[in-house]
Amino acid sequence: MIRWLLNTIHTWAQSWIAKLVNTFTYGALEFRFFIVILSLGTLVGIADGVSKVFFGFGLLSAVQNWLVVLISFAVLYLAIDLNNFVLPSKIMVYMLTFVLYPVIWLYEGGLDGSAPYLFVITVAAIAIVLRQHKPQVLVICNLCMFGLLAWMQYLFPEMIRYHENPAHRILDATSMALVCLLFLYFSLSQILDDYKRKVGQLNETQQRLEHLSSIDSLTGLYNRRYAMNKFAMVLQNRRRTSVSVIMIDIDHFKAINDAHGHLVGDKTLSLLATILSAHTRESDTVARIGGEEFLILLENTDEPQARLVANNLRQTILDYSHWPKAMTVTASFGVFEIDQDKDVDSVLEGVDLLLYKAKQKGRNCVVSQTQLAEEEPA
Ligand code: GH3
Ligand code: MG
Ligand code: MG
Repeated sequence: MIRWLLNTIHTWAQSWIAKLVNTFTYGALEFRFFIVILSLGTLVGIADGVSKVFFGFGLLSAVQNWLVVLISFAVLYLAIDLNNFVLPSKIMVYMLTFVLYPVIWLYEGGLDGSAPYLFVITVAAIAIVLRQHKPQVLVICNLCMFGLLAWMQYLFPEMIRYHENPAHRILDATSMALVCLLFLYFSLSQILDDYKRKVGQLNETQQRLEHLSSIDSLTGLYNRRYAMNKFAMVLQNRRRTSVSVIMIDIDHFKAINDAHGHLVGDKTLSLLATILSAHTRESDTVARIGGEEFLILLENTDEPQARLVANNLRQTILDYSHWPKAMTVTASFGVFEIDQDKDVDSVLEGVDLLLYKAKQKGRNCVVSQTQLAEEEPA
């Protein structure tokens, strides 16, 4: 029988502790806060009760402590079992307010004892824990009861039992101060955690917004705004390394739209974006800067290398066999290596001219600066 009872208690305790640990690890911040406060309150209550017996302050005083412990433990158990701290913490405050605090008040010196401090701290702690669950009624009840007890003490001071033994008073004050400090510590750390979480969320939102504002929604590539900013930044910061740009324009794109409709046109644009991303380096910036115009910024790349990249892309686009409606799609390319002292506008102008030359040459080709210079000597 005893063995069975021990086994049952052991299994129950094991599963309950597992639940407690699980709630503490994965629960909401407020729930963890609630558990920590209750657990600490329970532990301090037990220690305080034991010390009162040990120092011979009478069983009544110790029983009072253990009553608090019992209630704390029951509420903690309920919270873990329900996996919710809102109802248990409300029960806890009502019980403290209407049963335990008045008793502590009467037996522990009223306003001169420890109860008033507990009142104040409890109000603050509960308000923090329950702030998203309308704790106003609880807080008002708590404060009204505090006022009522103070008024009663003023009217009937003989009701209050004071600590006769100074050691009793010191012990009482110390244990309450400890509980208050713990409440305060966890309240502050809760507020701090909350603040940090909010700042983190704000940063995340800002980053997401920044990301969204730099992306072209149709193709998922960077948009013109981002490309221009990045371009200016690269030009400003580069140190004697070659930087090249490739400008790409789909040939006769208007005809694709006219023949197959805008949706097919859009599909073509996103497929082309995929090809451009797949055949460039991670460090290259690929952007859609206009309707069917794209720009690639290649750092640490000189003109011959950029021309190679452009020719590879041109061939890949031509060879691609999954264009919608089994179309043949081609594109023209301008390739430009940026001189040390060039700014964004003059680079764009230069590469645009090269692209124009590629169109003039009959499209589906790459025209670069030196190539043009060789063909059209000044
Ligand atoms: P070229 O070879 O000289 O570049 O001829 P093109 O027809 O490609 O050039 P043009 O500038 O005459 O036409 C570009 C077309 O791109 C016109 C416009 O309707 C289309 N376009 C621009 N933005 C989009 C878009 O987001 N989706 C689709 N489907 N079409 C677009
Ligand atoms: Mg165009
Ligand atoms: Mg075009």
